[in-house]
Amino acid sequence: MKFGGSSVADPEKIRTVARRIADAREQGDQVVAVLSAMGKTTDGLVALADEISDRPSPREMDMLLSTGERVSCALMAMALHDLGHEAASFTGSQAGILTDTAHTKAKIIEINPERLHAELGTGHIVLVAGFQGMSTEKNVTTLGRGGSDTTGRGGSDTTAVALAAALDAVVCEIYTDVTGVFTADPRVEPGARKLPLVSHEEMLEMAASGSKVLALRSVEVARLHDVPLHVRSSFAPEDGTWITKETPMMERAFVSGIAHKSDEAKISLLGVEDQPGVAATVFTALADALINVDTIIQNVGVDGQADLSFTVPLPDLPKALDVISSMGDRLPHRETISDDQIGKVSLVGEGMRSNPGIAATMFRVLASEGINIQMIDTSTIRITVVIGRSEVERAVRALHEAFDLASEAERRGV
Ligand code: ADP
Ligand code: ASP
Ligand code: MG
Repeated sequence: MKFGGSSVADPEKIRTVARRIADAREQGDQVVAVLSAMGKTTDGLVALADEISDRPSPREMDMLLSTGERVSCALMAMALHDLGHEAASFTGSQAGILTDTAHTKAKIIEINPERLHAELGTGHIVLVAGFQGMSTEKNVTTLGRGGSDTTGRGGSDTTAVALAAALDAVVCEIYTDVTGVFTADPRVEPGARKLPLVSHEEMLEMAASGSKVLALRSVEVARLHDVPLHVRSSFAPEDGTWITKETPMMERAFVSGIAHKSDEAKISLLGVEDQPGVAATVFTALADALINVDTIIQNVGVDGQADLSFTVPLPDLPKALDVISSMGDRLPHRETISDDQIGKVSLVGEGMRSNPGIAATMFRVLASEGINIQMIDTSTIRITVVIGRSEVERAVRALHEAFDLASEAERRGV
């Protein structure tokens, strides 16, 4: 059971969640609960570090940020004790989560669950601090919240899925402040509906395209290790959304969901020399600076010159522009321009594979809203458009209505 920050935001919520964990234990299940930091604690810790230093050491950042989830776990253990249960909290390191040495964005290498197995064997409820581990150099690490990449957020989701895989859990339940994965972000489209089933592939596309309800990496781990995932509400008993290998043919909608991102920026290199190796040079330099380049477009070369445009996460824009200007003669081009006012809207659905025409409908809907499409990017089950940031929410709502996603979700729920 994983509980997100909003589910443990204050003492009362912690007591409510404790009741939920106790209920699971009382039904006879062995329970491991992974917790996030309370509410916006992690943001607060980041801000605190910023007040102290312009360039805090990544090692010390990890030491600092890892405390948030430890607080939640210790308090949850106390709440469970008061309900008459034996419970013990553990740091990621104590839980046997071994990571690489990439401070503030570590990756789990392996999990040694002996300690947790022993604890579960005694009938205790186990609480594990999410979003952290111990590196091969025995330092505290965190799994990344990707200041520059919003798809990296939600490290505790990854902890939960990885632990579920290591412990061979029956299910990994992600408890949050919504009742499941919806057809769109319910904060943007109030008419969004819960999807009963979402395939791994759809969820990967949605997470990568901005649906923060599940962290991208956690879905990757779930797919790799075949962990059944169930996203549901911390506060309502109803069934949520199951993330499964594939959805039955009958249940496939053309479009399952709409995802959006508002914190993106676009860079265009105009008049780039049209010859082999140019793209390789640009994107190698950006990759070396750990900048996550997304949608890329290069137009047809004319007179030996082409234009190259790509998007980066908004916080990475200054760094990306620095990288490009520092390339000087290695990147002969006429001009660099950038736009920090863009966003993306994506349609995702397994049904797209076998149904041509979805893109055309999407573009018609945007046209009728007077929304200009700056870039287009597709996979077999996703269509993404890059548009002005101020138009993102309107686009989400118009598309939700045009594809009638609410009725679609309802039909599939039957
Ligand atoms: P937690 O604190 O539990 O980790 P998050 O804030 O990370 O919660 O994720 C839950 C939020 O994700 C919801 O409140 C919702 O606004 C947002 N969200 C974005 N897209 C979706 C979607 N398609 N379905 C459900 N929630 C979504
Ligand atoms: N508390 C961490 C964050 O805010 C991790 C998480 O909530 O999953 O990024
Ligand atoms: Mg989350």
